[in-house]
Amino acid sequence: MKKIFVCAFGAFLMVGSLAGFSGCGEKTASRPHYSIAGEYFPDTRKLTAEMQVTVPNLTGKTLESLSFELWANAYREGAKYAPISPLYRDAAYYDGESFGGISVSSVEGAAGFQVCGEDENILSVSLSEPLDPEKSVTLGMNFEVTLAKVNHRLGAGEHNVTLANFYPTLCAAGENGFLEYVYASNGDPFVSDCADFDVTLTFPSEYEAAYSGEGSISRVSGKKTLSAKTERARDVAFVLGKGLKKIEASAEGKQVEYFYFGDDDPETALKAAADSLSYFSDAFGDYLYPKYTVVETDFPYGGMEYSALSMIAPDLKGSDVAAVVAHETAHQWWYSMVGNNQFETPWLDEGLAEYSSALFLEEYPEYGVNYRDFIHRSENGYRTYFSVKSQLAGDKDTNMNRPLTSYSGEYEYRNLAYDKGVILFDRVRSVTGDKKFFAGLRRYFEENSGRIASPEDLISCFKSGNVGELIRSFTDGKCVI
Ligand SMILES: [Zn+2]
Repeated sequence: MKKIFVCAFGAFLMVGSLAGFSGCGEKTASRPHYSIAGEYFPDTRKLTAEMQVTVPNLTGKTLESLSFELWANAYREGAKYAPISPLYRDAAYYDGESFGGISVSSVEGAAGFQVCGEDENILSVSLSEPLDPEKSVTLGMNFEVTLAKVNHRLGAGEHNVTLANFYPTLCAAGENGFLEYVYASNGDPFVSDCADFDVTLTFPSEYEAAYSGEGSISRVSGKKTLSAKTERARDVAFVLGKGLKKIEASAEGKQVEYFYFGDDDPETALKAAADSLSYFSDAFGDYLYPKYTVVETDFPYGGMEYSALSMIAPDLKGSDVAAVVAHETAHQWWYSMVGNNQFETPWLDEGLAEYSSALFLEEYPEYGVNYRDFIHRSENGYRTYFSVKSQLAGDKDTNMNRPLTSYSGEYEYRNLAYDKGVILFDRVRSVTGDKKFFAGLRRYFEENSGRIASPEDLISCFKSGNVGELIRSFTDGKCVI
């Protein structure tokens, strides 16, 4: 283990004088590839893992270092950016204060590494040779994750062990360097390019496992080992639970499964998952992954999306079940297949996922939600928020293109990213009519699948200056609602 250099904060470094030097590695791949072999030990709440990651340089620039997000460090004692807002803290930390974190003990194939970033959130790896464009480098890492006792994306929860965002995650490539973000308790700070994953995870045999991707489970002497594979995914996630049960359906030729532990009406969530997968496939374009998994897990609010897997909270009631499942399923299109910068422009996937849920519920009235009621709720919620903000706080800034860490809290984030997003897409649909509206969304999906799209990419897909002006008037905070 060497820690030899000052963190470069992931800047791409141009190495013009090294023309003709062959960068490390020979293989050129179109996406990063992660091989992770880990074992979870419940007694100590620790996951130990070896990871091999192959990173192709698709930036067009020579790289001297790579940056990885260490999302697990947000759960450590003393973290500056807490993973959970004060509103949900008590519900999440069910057994009082608890901490976790990640420790990277070695990085093979590199000149050195350092944990840095504003909140120990970045693993900066100094390459042993400059990495030229179109060349790849393979690194080996050993790391150990300690889980906090917390009902959240990564934690030993009251019922399940939830393993998401647990491994060092290559930062997405931006125009001016790697995109490095701190954790944010409002929204989802995760921004990743698509990658391929091969994961083996060993755990005590009394656990059942829900996981993204295709896989199989073998048993050896009191333990199970899951081997799972996912391609073209933003991430990989697992839920382990002693009481997890599974029911299955199919939609569009894809396997749909629902894991649950306390849901007394599991058929509703499964049906909503299958119905929404069918609806969005028809409305926007084909679902890419071979199966889709929804899992009820320990989560203090709503749900959470990962590639080919959605988590939903255990306390959902009535029509909220279908609304949340549809919202998370829509994220397969607007997050997983079409990515966006969720940290800088969270409305783009959240507003679209929430509006897609409204579209689904409009098409499937049996779930008991009226489309116009859905829109009115968003309008009323947003107007109340704006009234409070402008009259009491004297602040009329409703700009939607703002980073997660700039929101004052859950209330502002909810109203600007979700409710105002829903109103935005409802108004666009009113202006374009259904035919052009859905054609625009289909185009946005086709042209941006596998990419990280921007608001301007969305605007361009409607091929209308009026729509562009309308969307910008919302995002710039200039329109009156
Ligand atoms: Zn969402």
